[in-house]
Amino acid sequence: MEPYRIKVVEPIPVTTRQQREEALKRVHYNLFDLRAEEVTIDLLTDSGTGALSAAQQAAGMAGDESYSGSRSFYRFHETVTELTGYSHILPAHQGRAAERVLFNTLLEPGKLVLANTHFDTTRANVELSGAEARDLPCPEARDLDSTHPFKGNIDLEELRRTLTGPDGSRVAVVLLTITNNGGGGQPVSMENIKQTSALCRAHGVPFFLDAARFAENAWLVTRHEPGYQDRTPRQVAEEAFRLTDGCVMSAKKDGIVHIGGFIGLNDGELAQRCELLLIATEGFATYGGLAGRDLDMMAQGLKEVTEPSYLAERADIATHLANRVRSAGVDILEPPGLHALYLNAGRLFPHIPAHHYPGHALACQLYLEGGIRSAELGSLYLGEEDEEGNPTKSAPYELVRLALPRRVYTRSHYDHVGETLEKIVKNAGSVHGFRITEQSPILRHFRATLVPVPVTG
Ligand SMILES: *Cc1c(COP(=O)(O)O)cnc(C)c1O
Repeated sequence: MEPYRIKVVEPIPVTTRQQREEALKRVHYNLFDLRAEEVTIDLLTDSGTGALSAAQQAAGMAGDESYSGSRSFYRFHETVTELTGYSHILPAHQGRAAERVLFNTLLEPGKLVLANTHFDTTRANVELSGAEARDLPCPEARDLDSTHPFKGNIDLEELRRTLTGPDGSRVAVVLLTITNNGGGGQPVSMENIKQTSALCRAHGVPFFLDAARFAENAWLVTRHEPGYQDRTPRQVAEEAFRLTDGCVMSAKKDGIVHIGGFIGLNDGELAQRCELLLIATEGFATYGGLAGRDLDMMAQGLKEVTEPSYLAERADIATHLANRVRSAGVDILEPPGLHALYLNAGRLFPHIPAHHYPGHALACQLYLEGGIRSAELGSLYLGEEDEEGNPTKSAPYELVRLALPRRVYTRSHYDHVGETLEKIVKNAGSVHGFRITEQSPILRHFRATLVPVPVTG
């Protein structure tokens, strides 16, 4: 059961099928353009969508809004230092701001960043600094049905080969994303973090974590990694941070706040250079684009997020939804993680070709049938066409992500998702695909407009 009860409630919009049909037409079948008040269950993202605790609200009231040197900063600084052990902590307003400040300072054209998988804003910030972002996921990551417990691992052989090969001297940083969001929210084992750390040390390359879901990663380590059964998630997280030279953090995930992030560093000279860019573009080094109350709420959230009862319930609710989805007849990316489930839309709609976007078709059906908003992670997100609209590249898999906001929805909300999927599966053969009518040159899934393509044959 949930280890909390509800103190404040927010009504969720209940709409009719006809209203949803009209809304879809109005936004040209782009779910990002729906108004949130048209969405009943919003599983678009787990970022910044969590519910604050009473203790976080209280911490916010105690926020000190002094321009520099606020009490809030020192409370935040102490909390993050205890958790991570880094000697320099710089607040930033969210994860991508931390990435921009770090990578603009650390990277230059010609440099190379190696990761298990770069998250999309991480890749964008590496590339904006002129460097190359290269993913080295472990082989198990490619098999959606494999239940290997640590499919978020980096391929250590490939990492070793790259560090000792002709590109070795170009490697500016190695980054492990925990959990691996771009790779389906799969965790990274402590063994993999240790080996990566040793390789980086041997080659004199800085090793960083993209730590957005460090607590969820730690929880899965205590469940599945030999030798860690008797450790607390907090102890595992502390150990992971101490195997690295620094981190970037989006606290909108495992900080359980609506806005916030930070950079952690051990290299004093690098920290000084980052601080200058931070002051010029984010805010003074003791607030980094945040209010004092935000720093206090983040500090409290970072303490709550490693509570075993909280993490156990989060894992449990994800398993509950995974079971509902499987019994509705929909395959998911196995094994289910904590922050999201990834539905295999390609397998559900074999009659819809990749260039008619089976994932998008499922996302639209989830909204139409149940008022549920999800995110397509398939060929609408990753595919490409030529000028005439002929497909030139499709995604390896056609997935739909159901992200689980922290402490927000209960089991009955997720039962509604399961029931909606059951309805969709019954008429799967008559579900139609889509065609893009307008798109932007980059990040097209945000702004594309589409029209339905009737089912033929
Ligand atoms: C969300 C996320 C980011 C970016 O953080 P924002 O706070 O959204 O800017 C970076 N890396 C990972 C793994 C993320 O999940």
